[in-house]
Amino acid sequence: MITIKSAREIETMALAGRILADALTLVASRVQPGVSTAELDRVAEEFIRSYPGARPSFKGLYDFPASLCTSINSEIVHGIPCEKRVLKDGDIISIDCGVYLEGLHADSAITKAVGAVTEEVQRLLQVTQKALEAGIKTALVGNHVGDIGHAVQQIAEGAGCSVVRELVGHGIGASFHEEPQVPNYGKPKRGPRLTPGMTLAIEPMVTTGGPEIRTLDDKWTVVTADGSLSAHFEHTVVIQPDGPRILTQVPAAAPA
Ligand code: MG
Ligand code: MG
Repeated sequence: MITIKSAREIETMALAGRILADALTLVASRVQPGVSTAELDRVAEEFIRSYPGARPSFKGLYDFPASLCTSINSEIVHGIPCEKRVLKDGDIISIDCGVYLEGLHADSAITKAVGAVTEEVQRLLQVTQKALEAGIKTALVGNHVGDIGHAVQQIAEGAGCSVVRELVGHGIGASFHEEPQVPNYGKPKRGPRLTPGMTLAIEPMVTTGGPEIRTLDDKWTVVTADGSLSAHFEHTVVIQPDGPRILTQVPAAAPA
């Protein structure tokens, strides 16, 4: 069942999303060679819990042990933060996080370069971010979930990259993962129709190689089967009559 959120629920999710956006901005500012993924996880958890009533969505979700998923280079998603996992110059790290506030969740992810990266790597990050923007732009009342996936796929594959197919975006609200599934591929006008009050986590996972994945022995970390690099950007958005509203970003500064 696809749940439609009330105006009040949407404002709560926007508040959770704002805390999340600020948490990711803070964590991103700490990304540098020599920092462990466990350190980043502590920064995120402490920041989120500093807001009364807010907690990290991931900790305990399906028994995941941390507040962030930290996925480096060929790791796509669900990497577990660890003291021994230390960032190196030239790495990329995908940082995925959720915030739970007053019964509702928000979900967002970014990928960040560690120190200096090659042009190919910068391009992967740009393409994935553009794919997310294209997906969000098509999240219009009357369009379908397939329009979002199609837009994401066009950008990613048009740039010579692949989209991961076995992992998808999702509805989000009182449950972290709700219907509908939001694949990063698809055909226009297919899938559920988008209606006001639907809240979706749109999250392209893009690779420089093929789309195939495998899961490591830790049962969590999902990597590219061919060892190619992967990037992941995600926003939680609400479908509105006047266009999609991103709930997980720091608002642009008001004009002076
Ligand atoms: Mg996420
Ligand atoms: Mg998600």
